[in-house]
Amino acid sequence: MKTWAKVSIAVAALGGIAAAAALLSLKGKALLPSATEQWAPVPRVVDPFKYLDSPEPDAVRLFDGESLAEWINSNDRGPASWAIADGVVTVHKPSGNIETRRSFRNYRLHLEWRVPAGITGKGQARGNSGLFLASTGPGDEGYELQILDPWENPTYANGMAGAIYKQHAPLVNPGRPPGEWNVYDVVWTAPVFAPDGKLTAPARVSLHFNGVLVQDNVMLAGPTVFAGQPVSKPHGPAPIKLQAHGDPSAPISFRKMWVLELP
Ligand code: MG
Repeated sequence: MKTWAKVSIAVAALGGIAAAAALLSLKGKALLPSATEQWAPVPRVVDPFKYLDSPEPDAVRLFDGESLAEWINSNDRGPASWAIADGVVTVHKPSGNIETRRSFRNYRLHLEWRVPAGITGKGQARGNSGLFLASTGPGDEGYELQILDPWENPTYANGMAGAIYKQHAPLVNPGRPPGEWNVYDVVWTAPVFAPDGKLTAPARVSLHFNGVLVQDNVMLAGPTVFAGQPVSKPHGPAPIKLQAHGDPSAPISFRKMWVLELP
């Protein structure tokens, strides 16, 4: 065999070995356990006993028991004038809804609310209020998580406490009787709209009601409405709103409220 032929065969053989080695190496790398390990970002350490009932350092304290500085009247945009006493704020029905000065997109929110002992009325006319997860107007426009006396108070299931009003009934009813505090821990994922206004990702909600999961990442058909079907309209970051419902029953109260923005 001529020298050039021997060299060619040697080169070809070496090339084949190199290619096979590279393939084995790639294959080996793909099979390494470390290839599928995620090391960052590191979930931060939290105190499990405080996590659910005290605000995290970077949470916005919406109500601290003393001031409604974070809130305005939804109608006249002036200061929120609901009554504060003993660390508790009580709905003032004649002055209407209140909403946060700030706007939010995605967040985790903690809210405590209480129907007064001795409440009267029935169904939707007993301790009705609401937490609008994103407000899109001064009245009841937006996405309402219902607040209502949950104790021995029959009404339509998708309008009871813990319901996404007229869209999703709660999975169970862990509500406490009038005079006792109820706790909502909400995760809100805002809807996403394309530049042309088309809905590209619907809003989603999870809710723990008194520590019990009652809404499991449910998808909203659009804003909640009293009559008819939801119609999606594009909007950006929005205030959080509390409802002054017009029923004649005694007003409900709120205490700790805080919100932590999420990506
Ligand atoms: Mg309501």
